[in-house]
Amino acid sequence: MRLVRNLLLFCFLLQPMLVQAAIAVDQPSESVNEQVYFLEDAADRLTIDAVRQDTANWTKQQDSKAFNQGYSDSAWWLRLQLHNGNATEVMRYLELSYAVLDYVDVWIYSSDRLLEFYEMGDKLPFNSRPLEHRFFVLPVTWEADQTLDIYLRVKTSTAVQAPLTLWDRDAFERRENQANIAQGLYYGAMVVIAIYNFLIFIVVRDRSYLYYVAFVMSLPLFIASMSGQAYHYLWPDAVLWNDHSIPFFLAMAFGSSAMFTRRFLQVKEWSRVLNVGLTMVATVAFGTMLLSFVMPYRFSIHVLVPLGLFACVFDMIVGGLSWYKGVNNARFYVIAWLMFLGGGVLLALNKLGILPQNFITEYSVQIGSVLEAVLLSFAMAERINVERRLRFAAQDEALKVTRRLNEQLEERVRERTLELEKLNARLEEMSNTDQLTNLKNRRYLEHVMQEEWARCKRYERDFAIMMLDVDFFKKVNDQYGHPAGDACLKRVAELVNQCIRWPSDQLARYGGEEFCLILPETGEEGARVVAERIRVAVEGDVIETDSASFGVTISVGVCVGKPKAGSVEDMLKSADLALYQSKERGRNKVTLYNQDKPAAVAPLPLGAAKTDK
Ligand code: GH3
Ligand code: MG
Ligand code: MG
Repeated sequence: MRLVRNLLLFCFLLQPMLVQAAIAVDQPSESVNEQVYFLEDAADRLTIDAVRQDTANWTKQQDSKAFNQGYSDSAWWLRLQLHNGNATEVMRYLELSYAVLDYVDVWIYSSDRLLEFYEMGDKLPFNSRPLEHRFFVLPVTWEADQTLDIYLRVKTSTAVQAPLTLWDRDAFERRENQANIAQGLYYGAMVVIAIYNFLIFIVVRDRSYLYYVAFVMSLPLFIASMSGQAYHYLWPDAVLWNDHSIPFFLAMAFGSSAMFTRRFLQVKEWSRVLNVGLTMVATVAFGTMLLSFVMPYRFSIHVLVPLGLFACVFDMIVGGLSWYKGVNNARFYVIAWLMFLGGGVLLALNKLGILPQNFITEYSVQIGSVLEAVLLSFAMAERINVERRLRFAAQDEALKVTRRLNEQLEERVRERTLELEKLNARLEEMSNTDQLTNLKNRRYLEHVMQEEWARCKRYERDFAIMMLDVDFFKKVNDQYGHPAGDACLKRVAELVNQCIRWPSDQLARYGGEEFCLILPETGEEGARVVAERIRVAVEGDVIETDSASFGVTISVGVCVGKPKAGSVEDMLKSADLALYQSKERGRNKVTLYNQDKPAAVAPLPLGAAKTDK
């Protein structure tokens, strides 16, 4: 009894805290976190042998949560003792599902015999792993009734975490297939969205799209870096780069999302403060992104985590305010962000054990970010639409304005043309009119005379030209003064004008006190009547001026006949000659010359006015 007790005590002292656990063969996977013992090697000096000798300093993991020491400079030793209680050999994958550990060394002992030794970690080339997997996965085989001691040494600049799971191989591969499809879908969707938006950027050259592409690409690249997939598939040999990829893409996500938010919500237009805030977030993020190559990982992360929290809240506030201010597409932005954050919340609730672990909760961040990207893509396309609509409206407006201006211009031109026409007509009228008598002037008459003469010639009609001259006009001037002379001329013009009946008859002041009258389609008889009527009218009139009243007479010379060869000037000369003869014969006479009757000896003098008619 005492011996048994001593033996038990001995056993207890030998392995004071170690409880050996059996492998559950009937389960596809089993978390072994609770079986972990750990030991801190603060000076990073212990060897595997020293650790194996140590019986006093191991601590047992308290619950089923994964081993997690946060950031630590120490090396950490983990120990698992697992027993195969079956009568057959059992093979399991031991998975350490935290991809970013720098160094993970593993020893597997059976009693004192070292069976395997592995050196892994993301500071070592990817192909140094026993199984090419994004996590650290070891194939472990137990013989029947065998106990294996598994020692892990973890040293890392990232958080010290070691979630450990034992997997049945088939179950592991099933899980892998499912995960690969899910991740593939996620990465595929994000790449397509990024390419699509990049092409839009090339076409429309709006930098919003470039920031958006950077944001859409940085998220999956960050997730791929965290999950070890990027190291596995994208840069398995780039050990140095792998160390920087996580802060790099995280910083890129914060920076590009801040810049995207700034431009997409046109923050500059409505808030200077928020615009400066977003620019500062972007500057810090992009600065950290570049410095992440030289800064230690832990330092970058310590800048980025608070920056990220701040940026998330800040972006949300900007989104909410922009919605409130009625910025175009702001609601899309807010809903998209909520989806992304919702994904994060779901994952957190899953990790905290509040929500069950299933496909949705496991991939909630990915689902959220795809939904966000799709919605924002849609909003970006909608933006093009809105801008196009605005452009069309502006063009329409411009067209309307142009049309209106054109109409106004045409109206003005029309008015001006009308004014000019009136003015021209007036000028023409003035240039054709004698100012004193208001009769047509000589210039005009000569023009009309030519036309009428040509017309009568063509139709073989009679044509008469009459020259009239006031008798002894000089005397009027001398006797009553020049103004009275003017008044006299005006009155005579009036009198002569009253004697004309036909619209085609044209009277003009020919110069001084001479008048000329042309009578188209008028023969000897008609001309004589008109001439006589004028002579009598003038003779019978009394001219009243301010200073005197007096009478004048007028002498007339007429030439009639059908226009023939020669010109109207010949007829005019004949009329002038006839006038001269009237003067010769004692004035106040009409002399008519008919050019169709040359036999009658031209010019044919007519009797004094009294005797004619
Ligand atoms: P007659 O014709 O009977 O031989 O004698 P007359 O006195 O009329 O002679 P003449 O034809 O040579 O004189 C014309 C005068 O008329 C000369 C000029 O002083 C005057 N006269 C010409 N034009 C105007 C005018 O516009 N106003 C005034 N008041 N006198 C004018
Ligand atoms: Mg005269
Ligand atoms: Mg005269």
